[in-house]
Parts: sequence; structure tokens; C-alpha cells
Amino acid sequence: MTDCLFCKIIDKQVDAKIVYEDERALAFRDIHPQAPLHVLVIPKMHVASINELRQAHEPDLGHLFLVAAEIAKQEGLQERGYRTVMNCGPDAGQSVSHVHLHVLGGTRLGWPPFPRGA
Ligand code: 5GP
Ligand code: ZN
Repeated sequence: MTDCLFCKIIDKQVDAKIVYEDERALAFRDIHPQAPLHVLVIPKMHVASINELRQAHEPDLGHLFLVAAEIAKQEGLQERGYRTVMNCGPDAGQSVSHVHLHVLGGTRLGWPPFPRGA
């Protein structure tokens, strides 16, 4: 997809701090980190959101979790833990229309992810 920011990062037209790459996925540091570790793991195929997922995408999407675990290992976070999040649509605050798995860690993370009483 020519007009997609994350496709441009995959094509190296836009710079990013890449921490992992293989034939199906790319992982890079979030430009506005929300935790000491904040990495985005994306499939190399363009899929806009979870809503657009089809059965053919299953292997590539499942692969994102293996990459997330590998990154947690690289960063020494497997024992203490970390969080994976994939936002979908406006209520979840999805701002880039290319599916991406957030990997967050390196501190005690808050929960639940919405204001109490909301
Ligand atoms: P979303 O809000 O869609 O779940 O997550 C999109 C994420 O992409 C945000 O956390 C945002 O900081 C990150 N982001 C947006 N533009 C760029 C960019 O150009 N480079 C990098 N590395 N991250 C970006
Ligand atoms: Zn894309």
C-alpha cells in the first residue's frame, strides 16, 4: 500500500528504530513510547485493522505473538512480564490503519485501560 505509513517503514522509505525483522514481520520502537519498552510488531502484508482480517492472514497474525515473545526475551522481560495490545477502531484509539501489536513493558503497567466509572 503506497499511502500507508507502516508499509513505508517496511519499505525503508520512512526511518524507524528496527529491533527485529524476518520475512513476515517487522518490529520497531514506537515514536511516542508509553512505557520503557514500547515496540510495535507489524505484519509485512497490509491489513488495515482486525476487522479486515481473513483466514488467509491467520499465520502472519499468529506470528506477531512469536515475535513479541522474542522481543521480550531480547529485552530481558519474559520473567517480569509485559503486555501486548492491538487497538481496533476509534474507541480503542487506533491511529494507524495497518494492524500492529503493541509490546509494552519495563514497568508495572496500569489496568484497567479505561477511567473508573466511565
Ligand atoms: P495505535 O494508536 O494505532 O494503536 O498505535 C499507533 C502507534 O504508532 C502509536 O503508538 C504511535 O506513537 C506510533 N507511531 C505513529 N507514527 C509513527 C512513526 O512514524 N514511527 C514510529 N516508530 N511510530 C509511530
Ligand atoms: Zn500498510
